[in-house]
Formats: sequence, structure tokens, C-alpha cells
Amino acid sequence: MDCTFRTDATVDTPALVSACRCPLHARRLFTGGVVGAALMAGAGPLAAQTIPECKRSTFTKAVSAETVEQQAMLQYRQMLQKASGDRALAPAEHPQLQRLRYIGARMVPYTRECNPRAADWKWEVNLIGSRQINAFCMPGGKIAFYYGILSELQLSDDEVAMIMGHEAAHALLEHAREQVGKNTVTTGGLRLLSSLLGFGQLGDVAAQGLGQLASLAFSRSDETEADALGLLIAARAGYDPRAGVTLWQKMTAGTGGAPPELLSTHPTGPTRIKDIEAKLPRVLPMFDAAGKPDRRFAPPARMAAARP
Ligand SMILES: [Zn+2]
Repeated sequence: MDCTFRTDATVDTPALVSACRCPLHARRLFTGGVVGAALMAGAGPLAAQTIPECKRSTFTKAVSAETVEQQAMLQYRQMLQKASGDRALAPAEHPQLQRLRYIGARMVPYTRECNPRAADWKWEVNLIGSRQINAFCMPGGKIAFYYGILSELQLSDDEVAMIMGHEAAHALLEHAREQVGKNTVTTGGLRLLSSLLGFGQLGDVAAQGLGQLASLAFSRSDETEADALGLLIAARAGYDPRAGVTLWQKMTAGTGGAPPELLSTHPTGPTRIKDIEAKLPRVLPMFDAAGKPDRRFAPPARMAAARP
């Protein structure tokens, strides 16, 4: 019995129906899959103040980090439950999910230095059965990859690590929290701030901002920051940062169909690849010094262009 995914779901309604009738899938496995912050061999910790990639401009902290992370966890759970109900959530045994979790587990130890809260995050990686070319990491370390990004872009492990590092960097640098703060202030004004003091008393506008933590559009400067920190994390985990170049070449070349969904939340510009190339001299020595993965995985087969 073929247990591979069928991947024709949309993000909002991942109505993918798995063709698989194997007992594992029939049990509607809901596998939270905490990525163990395993004791990975590798370089020692860097102090945050010595890592330029950790630097942030100050931003409006209208919403607490706790509030954003708790809301993200709820939204992530809801998304997983919906996907599980549609049988579009990869079971723990799925080779591509094992691949994602292996790569994630290598990277987690290098995520704490920019954001001390991350030491307490329960990192999770899940695979959603959708054709979409998309991936995200919600605040608190809740990562999802869509099957389409693996199959349609035929991502190598190094390229997967570049995406995961980039998405994790958005979470570590609190770009979503910053965005929610901006939305709150610009549309709600100071009136709302008083209602934001306690969790559970969110104003409407803030709740609206928090209602889309997985689909907030980042700014160009957010993208530049996430590229820089993501490359660093992936390189220290033993993944070749030169894959950041091939990844974005693939992403911008597209697949001949609709532009990747990821580009709608991660705006890109003509200089992105050049900017990444300019960062390589800094991160290549980290990659050279890093312990290398002892497992390598192939991408899944490309999906059929159209289904009968
Ligand atoms: Zn991004």
C-alpha cells in the first residue's frame, strides 16, 4: 500500500484526503512531535551581544512575548487538528517528516543565543499535506512545512535547513510580535494598550493581529534580518549556507504555475541573492567548523501537474 501523501489541499482548508488506508494513517495520528533539543555536538555557545545577527531595532512591545507565544500555540494546535481531521497531517513515520525533524533537531541548539526565551520553547515541526509552496515558524518555535515546497522545489537537506533557519529567525527576532504591535498602535491607538495589559483581555484589533500569526507579511528589513540569522543557525548546524543561494533561485524561478505562497509573506527583491552571497564569507567558516549531519535525505517525488 502506498502511504504517500496526496497534496491538493489549500492552506485555509487543507482538505487533502490521503489515499492511504494503512492502519497508521487511519488512526489519525496527532503527533505533536517535540523536536528534542538534543545534546548536539558542535561549536560552543556564542554570547548574544557578540552576534551582530541578533541585533534588533527597538520596537513597540504592545503585546507581551508570552501572549504572542500562547496565541501562536493555540493557532498551531487548531491548524494541526484541522489538518489531522482532513488526514493531511503527516504521521511521525512519514520519511519526509522524519527528515524535517532531524534537520530541526540539529538546529535547535543554536537558536537560544539571540532570544533567551527560546531555551524554554517547545519546538515542533510538522508536515502538512498541501501542494502549497510554503513554510512558517510561529512564535514559540512552532514550525510547519507544506509538502509542496519539498516536492515542487526538490529541496536538498541544505535548502530545507535554509528555510527552517530563516523561519526560525523570524520567530527568534520576534518579527510577528513587532508586526502585531505596529498594527495595534496604528489602528487601535493608545486606548487599546490598557486592554492589552492582561492576557485574556485582548482588544479587538490586537486579537485580529494575533489571529493570523502564521500569515503575517514580513517587511523587507525583516527578510534581510531573517536571512542573516537563518544562514548562521543553519551553518552552525552543519548545513551548507551556499544553499541559501540555490534556494532563492528556485523560489523566484517558481514552478511555472502560481508564484510560491511563501513569497506573499516573505517579500523578496532583486538584490536578495546578492545579499546572501555577500554574507557567505562570514558563515562559511562556521559551516566548515561545524559537525556535519550523519543522515542525508532525498526530496520526495514531484507531484503530478494535474489530477484527473
Ligand atoms: Zn521571511
